[in-house]
Amino acid sequence: MTPGHEFFDPPSPIVSGFRQRCPRCGEGKLFKGFLALAPACDHCGLDYGFAEPADGPAFFVMSGVGILVTFVFAWVEVVYRPPIWVHFVTVFPAMILGCLATLRPVKAWLVASQFVNKAEEGKFESLGRHDHDPRRL
Ligand SMILES: [Zn+2]
Repeated sequence: MTPGHEFFDPPSPIVSGFRQRCPRCGEGKLFKGFLALAPACDHCGLDYGFAEPADGPAFFVMSGVGILVTFVFAWVEVVYRPPIWVHFVTVFPAMILGCLATLRPVKAWLVASQFVNKAEEGKFESLGRHDHDPRRL
């Protein structure tokens, strides 16, 4: 058991991500806006200050939706050869709606993964000499 986890059995990041809930208790809301995180969980009080997925969600969503929609576009073009306007009215809305629909769950999933795996920016153990151990001061 690590501190902060004594009374909780955190759900899988996939589950809390899909439900867009708190990564610790699985109940409180994660978002207060479309993509803005709430300051803390309204159920268990977990401070969401640790969460900083940066442009990770956008990267995963753009790549995933882009590859999928492009694959379907290419398949439709090869099999049916529709006029170009069919692609304009299907591919662009599919890209936009696909990205908007998946951004929140993907961001929630990354935040939950950060919480479960305790990911944070890299820190140096020691900033001093080679033989300097800051724990033995
Ligand atoms: Zn919570």
